[in-house]
Amino acid sequence: MATRPSPRPDVAAIPRYVPGRRPTPRPGVTTYKLSSNENPFPPLPGVVEAVAEATVRSASYPDPTCPDLYEALEHRHPGRDLLAATGSVALIFHALLAYCRPGDEVVFAWRSFEAYPIAVAAAGATAVRVPLTADGRHDLDAMLAAVTDRTRVVMICTPNNPTGTTVSHSELTAFLRELRDDVLVLLDEAYVEFVRDDDAVDAAAVLEEFEQVVVLRTFSKAYGLAGFRVGYAVGATEVLDPVRAVALPFGVTEVAQAAAVAALAAEDVARVRIDALVSERERVLAGVRAEGWELPVSQGNFVWFPGAGTVEALAAAAEDLGIVVRAYPPDGVRVSIGVPEANDRIIGLARTVRQVVD
Ligand code: PMP
Repeated sequence: MATRPSPRPDVAAIPRYVPGRRPTPRPGVTTYKLSSNENPFPPLPGVVEAVAEATVRSASYPDPTCPDLYEALEHRHPGRDLLAATGSVALIFHALLAYCRPGDEVVFAWRSFEAYPIAVAAAGATAVRVPLTADGRHDLDAMLAAVTDRTRVVMICTPNNPTGTTVSHSELTAFLRELRDDVLVLLDEAYVEFVRDDDAVDAAAVLEEFEQVVVLRTFSKAYGLAGFRVGYAVGATEVLDPVRAVALPFGVTEVAQAAAVAALAAEDVARVRIDALVSERERVLAGVRAEGWELPVSQGNFVWFPGAGTVEALAAAAEDLGIVVRAYPPDGVRVSIGVPEANDRIIGLARTVRQVVD
């Protein structure tokens, strides 16, 4: 009998990440992928040129110290250490790997970003999922109550993927004041640029007061660079160094660094586009609510249709219109904000599906 290498026994139970599907091309129909919270705009000015220029240096390994990127980011996060990686998802994996021993617990709200339970299981840790409130928000009291002696990491996603709800600054700081100082807190702000809350989290103030917090940011959403895979962590050197220790060498390519630097240099254009997406989000929310849907306030570049038996109907109707959305049965459907024409179709879809299910 041939034997083969055997993986860690718990690996078989790791849930698989299911990426947002691409639409099936349909003759005469413009299709839209609204399933991965991607940015519908073309690359920011200067990105294509910067990438072309960096490609010339591609025979060499990238500079792992990301000098231009860190310099460009420094004034946004003065006095903090920075660590870039292959998307912020890599930082989640690396942080859990660095901080968790087998059996350690990681507390996070659920439903939230699909990669969390995968990363926790990959690190050999135990996921402690705390249900969202009925209106799709983090239940910070319940999360605090879920913390035990074995808790090593708490993950907070604000705005939360997929519900779009936020944790306010006052809620977060109250939570952190109660939490043990030796619990690492990953504050996932992948969608922070789309937030228009009055009491939005002030990451700089949080980092100033709580050394245990690491803020995660990404170039994949507001800056439209999902394909380049660049995210970064902001925090204290002593907290980030163990994460750096387990990170993949050369995780951020030279072209990815150049793309991110160019995107930051195009900040003015980025801001106009982000504002446009925010106003489209508000238009979609208002249009869909006018059809009788109760959608939570969203502060991301997506909206959330809570389930209640409509998940399949919505996803199927969207498919008929040439739009791929993200269904999370039985909880609900997440729809990314796209170009106005795609968003119009979503509002129309909300009307027809409402008529079917009512
Ligand atoms: N955090 C959240 C909440 C996300 O939704 C995503 C992407 N879907 C990520 C992190 C990862 O982003 P990236 O790896 O592209 O930086």
